[in-house]
Amino acid sequence: MAPYDATAARMTVPLHDVAEAARLLLAGELVAFPTETVYGLGADARNARAVAGIFAAKGRPHFNPLIAHYASAAAAFADVVADARAAALAARFWPGPLTLVLPRRATCTVDLLAGAGLDTLAVRVPSHPLALALLAAVAVPVAAPSANRSGQVSPTTAQHVLEGLGGRIAAVLEGGACDVGVESTVLDLTDPKGAALLRPGGVTREAIEAVIGPVGQALPPALAAASATLRSPGMMLSHYAPALPVRLHAHDVAPGEALLAFGPPLPGAALVWNLSAAADATEAAARLFAGLRWLDAEGGRLGLARIAVMPVPEAGLGAAINDRLARAAAPRP
Ligand code: AMP
Ligand code: MG
Repeated sequence: MAPYDATAARMTVPLHDVAEAARLLLAGELVAFPTETVYGLGADARNARAVAGIFAAKGRPHFNPLIAHYASAAAAFADVVADARAAALAARFWPGPLTLVLPRRATCTVDLLAGAGLDTLAVRVPSHPLALALLAAVAVPVAAPSANRSGQVSPTTAQHVLEGLGGRIAAVLEGGACDVGVESTVLDLTDPKGAALLRPGGVTREAIEAVIGPVGQALPPALAAASATLRSPGMMLSHYAPALPVRLHAHDVAPGEALLAFGPPLPGAALVWNLSAAADATEAAARLFAGLRWLDAEGGRLGLARIAVMPVPEAGLGAAINDRLARAAAPRP
């Protein structure tokens, strides 16, 4: 499949047809759709290139983890490990504006880029009838951040989506104005000893506590936002550092180094993962997390000492790729 080219001019088609929206999603295109909170920018979450397309279309400067949307709790819990708290919250609030962060299963079908390389995954079953119909029609997880350009406000009408992303995505499924207008509540359940509110949203802390007990003091919005940033490990400087040290801006390969290549690979490496032989940043984004993991595992097995990384130009998704590579190379705690 050709890499998703976010710079290619697209006719963004307003759709009323769920089946056509599902067909486009399964073909690797980006389709915005209404949820009860805001319009989401959907991609087949299993398709790395489509997920990379989300970051390209939004113009995000870094890869933050996306929420995977499902038609049912059963489908969501096939990809993550749900404990009793998650099951009780899902029974009470799904479909609805509550996102649960849970450990990924080994068999999780969601692409690593969608989860920003984390071992956890944020999952949600939205309640908007069109969202549910679309998710049921595709029967795959759909990664969907808010359907706006990076830095702009979240869209609550199809017209907002067209204003921000028109020409950059395949279609928007028309569903009128969203009811809630605020984003979903994000609750971290990865610590069995305590749930943590990462982002306040459509379901209140009190309503959650009525089901699973204390969630801890809710923070004022500004602090909650800062804390969510800190707690989302994708944002931390040294998060997801491979076990092997990482050397950036490599123009040659030293003995004992594995190579993360971009474009024609440098000679001399015992182990090579090419992000994109064609030096395409969107293809490179789609292959970044899988490549780091593979080089780390295989390089470790082969007794290699380090991962050398060829320079990636800052243009387009190159900036987000370099942000992530800088984190992988940052000094370890
Ligand atoms: P949005 O992009 O607006 O849909 O927001 C997604 C929210 O979920 C952000 O606040 C993310 O930081 C958070 N999130 C998604 N996945 C995870 C995860 N695995 N761990 C922690 N936070 C997450
Ligand atoms: Mg947003």
